[in-house]
This record gives sequence, structure tokens and C-alpha cells, in this order.
Amino acid sequence: MSKRDYYEVLGVEKGAGADEIKKAYRKLAVKYHPDRNQDDAETETKFKEATEAYEVLSDQKKRQAYDQFGFAGVDNMGGPSFNASAFSGFEDIFGENFGGFGDIFESFFGGGGGRSRRSGGGRARGSDLRHDLRVDFDQAVFGMDVEIEYDRLKACGECHGAGGEGVRTCSQCGGSGQVRRSSGFFSIATACSTCGGEGTVIDNPCSTCRGSGTVRSHQKIKVTVPPGMDPDRRIRLEGQGNHGPKGASPGDLYVYIHVRPHPHFERHDYDLYCAIPVSMTQAALGSEVWVRTLDHKRIKLKVPSGTQDGKMLRIRGEGVPVLNGGGRRGDLYVKLKVEIPSRISSKEKDLLKQFAESHGETEEPTPLKLKDL
Ligand SMILES: [Zn+2]
Ligand SMILES: [Zn+2]
Repeated sequence: MSKRDYYEVLGVEKGAGADEIKKAYRKLAVKYHPDRNQDDAETETKFKEATEAYEVLSDQKKRQAYDQFGFAGVDNMGGPSFNASAFSGFEDIFGENFGGFGDIFESFFGGGGGRSRRSGGGRARGSDLRHDLRVDFDQAVFGMDVEIEYDRLKACGECHGAGGEGVRTCSQCGGSGQVRRSSGFFSIATACSTCGGEGTVIDNPCSTCRGSGTVRSHQKIKVTVPPGMDPDRRIRLEGQGNHGPKGASPGDLYVYIHVRPHPHFERHDYDLYCAIPVSMTQAALGSEVWVRTLDHKRIKLKVPSGTQDGKMLRIRGEGVPVLNGGGRRGDLYVKLKVEIPSRISSKEKDLLKQFAESHGETEEPTPLKLKDL
């Protein structure tokens, strides 16, 4: 597949300013964000394409090389695989709660497995992990504890995560994990081949973990979904991600909550919505009907006489518990659907005819106002 021009990918002019590039990328990233387009390979490809374009065009050096030499100018600048650490600046593009970028990059552009991430050139840290959790509608509303199982890299028990004996700073790169090579007018940073980019080497690598300091393990952990949690949020379990190499601190586990829809209820913020049928006569004469709430309480509702189809009644405090709201809850809205009988007996027909005669029917109705439609 031939690659599209980076400017074309982002939809900006060649001379576009840094702000414009950032804005264009933000728009595409939001549109093609894998969290919103699950299991869609095409949007995933587009997301990657846009991200790669942004990675180059947002970096002055890379952009210059790209402008001058095209793809050949940037192909070997970041190595063959994309580097998630280049995106430590993501929080300021998307804001804190957009979330999920670190691990998405990790899973897209290599990383995964035991690869570690460096933040700000500091010590390596284990990578973050993602776990997708499906919960029922009422479980998400009222909260629950659930045990999940997943695989992660854990500190090796044999060497206690150190990777072996005689760990020392790599002399080739001085511990930075990177070496710079000058090539013509610009210099290229590549992962140090002696230490594999980790900054340290081991004289006697541990035989169990082959010097990595980590082993794969299957883990169970309890996750608490708090009552009233916003279904679009993820839960972060600190330190439950992959352990980093050679004793580096572990990454985090992010649990993404996916809520199954409910057949009768819908949620908007902390309020719940449902609809119940009432008969034509119940609506006209007024009556009492029973509503079953999401937590299976039966509540009597007064239907006033002369109720119109679509009328919304509110039951206070029967909605979603407010997150950390000390027991406060939103409301339950019940929409009344007035049902016209589709089949009636001849006796009923006569009664309705009598009713029509006494009530008086309009033969020439006036059209409704557009806003009533
Ligand atoms: Zn090195
Ligand atoms: Zn070991």
C-alpha cells in the first residue's frame, strides 16, 4: 500500500502552522479514536495514519526532513516501530480525561509484551495494560465488585526482578539507552544495540527470566465498579500493569467498562427513563398504575384524568445513585404511552359510538403547528 502524503492525511496546507496541525490531528484522532470505533479495522488504520503524520509534522526536525526528502527523510528517524514515548505530550492535546492514549499507542505501535516506556528520559517503567469488562446495565448503575483475570508481566521471583547479578550501566550509551549518529546535517537517535535501549547490562543474567527481570503470569484481581459510575470512564488500578525490566516500577491496569443496554430503561446522566402503556380509558378517566423500578421496587403512579399520549411523570430519587453522592440519586422519568385498542367487540363499538355522539367529533380539524409535530 502506498503511503499518503502527511499533509494530505491531516488535511492541511504545506505551510500550516503548528497550531493548525495540532488542531487537525486532534479532530481526526477524536473521530477515529479506537475507543469509539470498536472492532473497526478501517478507522484503526486511519487513526494510525493520522498519528504517524502528526508525529512527523509536529516535530520540527522531522518535518524539515520530510519536507526535503519525503518519507525517506523520516523513515529511520524514529526506528522502524513507532515510539509511544514520543507522545508524552498527549495530555495537553486532549486533556486529562480523554485518556487511554498511552496504552493505545503501546498496543498499536509495538510495545505490548515486555517493552517498557520511558517517561521524560527517566527510568523505564512497565507498560500499562487494558482490560475490557462487560457489565449489565443495573450493575453499572448500582455498582459491583467483580473478579477479573488477565495476563501480565510480573517481577521474576528468582532474581526479584533485577534480571540477574552484576547489573551495571551500559558503557556504550552511558545509561541513556540511546545513541546518536550524525548523518549529514542532522543526527539520528537510535536505540543502543548493546543494552537494547534499556540503559543497563547484566553480567550474569538470571536463567529463569533470561535477564529481563519479568515473567509472564496469570492474575486475578478484584475490581470495584462504584455506584453511579459514568459508563464512559475507565478504572485505573495503579501498579497492576506489566512490571518493567530490571526492577523498574510496574505500569497500571486500565479497566474499560462496557455497559449492556437494558430492554426497558435508558440512562441520561443520573436520571433513568422508561415508558409504560396506559389504556385509552385509563388516560381519559384517570387511574393508578404500577411501575417497577430498576431495582425492582413497585411504585404506584397516579395517572391524572385527561392524560395525553407521551406525558412524562417523574418519580424522585429512583434514578442512578450519584457517584460519591452519599446516597443521593437522580430521578426516574416515566413516559405514558396511551394505547388505542386495535380490536373491539361490537358492544364496545356501540359504546364508543355513543361516546362520540355525546362528545362531539370535529370533522374539519385545524392543522397542528409545526412545533407540535
Ligand atoms: Zn546502551
Ligand atoms: Zn529472573
